[in-house]
Amino acid sequence: MKDTWNPWHGCRKISEGCAHCYMYRRDLSVGRDPTQIEKTADFALPMKKGKNGWKIPDGSSIFTCMTSDFFLEQADSWRAEAWEMIRVRKSVHFFIITKRVLRIGACLPPDWGEGWENVSIGATAENQKRLDQRLDEFLALPLKHRFLVCEPMLGNMDAEKYLATGKIRRVIAGGESGPEAQELDYDWVLNLREQCLRTRTDFHFKQTGANFIKDGKRYRLERALQMPQARRARIDLSWEKDDEGGTRMG
Ligand code: SF4
Repeated sequence: MKDTWNPWHGCRKISEGCAHCYMYRRDLSVGRDPTQIEKTADFALPMKKGKNGWKIPDGSSIFTCMTSDFFLEQADSWRAEAWEMIRVRKSVHFFIITKRVLRIGACLPPDWGEGWENVSIGATAENQKRLDQRLDEFLALPLKHRFLVCEPMLGNMDAEKYLATGKIRRVIAGGESGPEAQELDYDWVLNLREQCLRTRTDFHFKQTGANFIKDGKRYRLERALQMPQARRARIDLSWEKDDEGGTRMG
């Protein structure tokens, strides 16, 4: 069963976190132009059925547009149809991660209202500049579920005033991959985690990246080790609602 849906492929770099984009690297390695934006053969995947019913079964969680950006300008003419499929498949949860946070509002469907229950949108912010540029707008959008993606994290970040609004459910942190990866300092990760602790926000340290600094020492990690190493740190935070409507560590 697939856990991703890539309705279109290809992208244009927009900010510092795109410098060593994985999709660019992969496309170039097979002689494909990553700036060529095309609908994929999977465009209508959410509506497809196989022998045993929906190809994306009810109850699934699906990461959407992982080899592009859902809010890319060049995909404007395809997005209405993509939204329609998301609207029809209410029992599937669609996670959408974007750096084009400032375009989301203009790209929502007409019947969006206060947001759809089956859509979570994650704003990517790789440094303080992008955080401050994107988060006010992100928090003002009508969304049922929001999360923040600091990946690749390229510097120390102060997100506390945004997290303190209580509108961001989860923060994901991670480093950059690839031979030219920019460094990730573990102190930045711990600092962001402290902010999540103080604001009772879920936190997930997803992966170390390929150029990881801990206690002043640099570690070069191959891709297969980056997630297991982050897991070994055991610093994730998960908060659950308690009976009085407050939160406690889960
Ligand atoms: S927005 Fe994402 S997919 Fe597009 S170039 Fe940047 S990192 Fe790559």
